[in-house]
Amino acid sequence: MIRKCLVAGVLVTLLSWPALAQDAKTVISNASRAMGANNLKTIEYSAIGADFAIGQAMNPSAGWPKFIDKTYTRAINFETPASQVNRVRVQGEYPQYGGGGQPLIGEQTQNQIIIVNSNTPWVQQLEIWMTPHGFLKAATANNATVKSQTVGGKKYSVLTFMGQNKAQVNGYINDQNMVEKVETWIDNNVLGDMLFDAVYTEYKDFGGVKFPTRIVQRQGGYPILDLAVIDVKPNAPANIQPPQGQGGGGGGAQAAAATSQKLADGVYLILPAYAALAVDFKDYIVVIEGPQNDARANAIIAEAKRLIPNKPIKYVVNTHHHFDHAGGLRAFVAEGATIITHEMNKPYYERIFSAPHTLTPDKLSEAKKKPTFETMTDKKVLTDGNHVIELHRLQGNYHNDGLIVAYLPKEKILLEADSFNPPAQPNAPTPAVLNLNNLNLLDNIQRLKLDVETIIPVHYPADSRKVTMAELLRAVGRAGSSN
Ligand SMILES: [Zn+2]
Repeated sequence: MIRKCLVAGVLVTLLSWPALAQDAKTVISNASRAMGANNLKTIEYSAIGADFAIGQAMNPSAGWPKFIDKTYTRAINFETPASQVNRVRVQGEYPQYGGGGQPLIGEQTQNQIIIVNSNTPWVQQLEIWMTPHGFLKAATANNATVKSQTVGGKKYSVLTFMGQNKAQVNGYINDQNMVEKVETWIDNNVLGDMLFDAVYTEYKDFGGVKFPTRIVQRQGGYPILDLAVIDVKPNAPANIQPPQGQGGGGGGAQAAAATSQKLADGVYLILPAYAALAVDFKDYIVVIEGPQNDARANAIIAEAKRLIPNKPIKYVVNTHHHFDHAGGLRAFVAEGATIITHEMNKPYYERIFSAPHTLTPDKLSEAKKKPTFETMTDKKVLTDGNHVIELHRLQGNYHNDGLIVAYLPKEKILLEADSFNPPAQPNAPTPAVLNLNNLNLLDNIQRLKLDVETIIPVHYPADSRKVTMAELLRAVGRAGSSN
């Protein structure tokens, strides 16, 4: 009986296949006609709005920090395919709140050019195929299937095709035959298989082409882009050229080979940036900072073990939860290290570190280890009786609520992240506008009465010079003062 039912079920499924495939073609065809996609070779649109820096929140409960896009222009050539974005952005929050290059002084011009070739990463191509008209073209090219779905009481025809990264791309077609949302999943080395969606609303007609006048893109649960579209030019000339000196293809960044300097007995600086410290405790190694990604963390781990052989890495100290400073933590967990971080980060890390990493498996997803933590609030001291590492949370900070610095009192060394990123040249003049993060670091050094000679900025200058307290004092206009 059970077998008969199963057979019947298979038959029904098989019979409905041709009908479904036909439906997908019809849905795409109806949407393409309604949206004016059929003869659309290029599109150019201009907007104002905001962009947001993913992974740079003030604390693990806050959204990504905001920047104002004073102008935003995007040209897409669907035939090449290619995309060019030009935007002018300014600081979005006063006072500054979080990372992502804050404070942004004055105007910043950004250009992004993507010219698709066989080497172009799928994540870059998505910038084209997730746009409303781009999605319909990609759905056609990739033999999308369709199903009906009700979301929030609204009925959608959901077109689905498989992306080159082996994640589904879903487009939600509403009852007006407009593409209202496109969603997919991309790899984020901290968040794992991360939902990336774009919501298109307030469609208007621009010369026979329907285009949304509100665009919101989200990654990791919060907006990364929020645009009010002002003007749209269908089939405007879009001869997008690769930026000079680049093929426009992109490609994966390789981690620079680690080098190191001995700063003091048992204390090593691992370069280039992002920098880390390795300290030789009696029975184990303490590494301060596990930044960026698996590749950088593995380079730091290998160098620490070369410098301090035959001891395990017991602890990795995490300065704060920003993705560029926490992106290597997973590799340290795989290595067996315990993470020392501010207590606000522990529930966040426990949650996100258990997320699947199926799109781009990393060392931890293969090792399947559970992270272990030691947390702190304002102060924690690590010592083996010889080496002493004091960890202090910076108070009154504008960059991150749980920002920790590491101070080695015997060696008079202070490792800090994002509080003082030294200029390329050691004798650069004091900037016209003093940096709040620099001032906050100095305030905290004075409050805690730390006797600092050497600063280790995690964002280490490329010349690998010794960064002294004098440099910080110069940056805040107090050159020549004793502290
Ligand atoms: Zn940061």
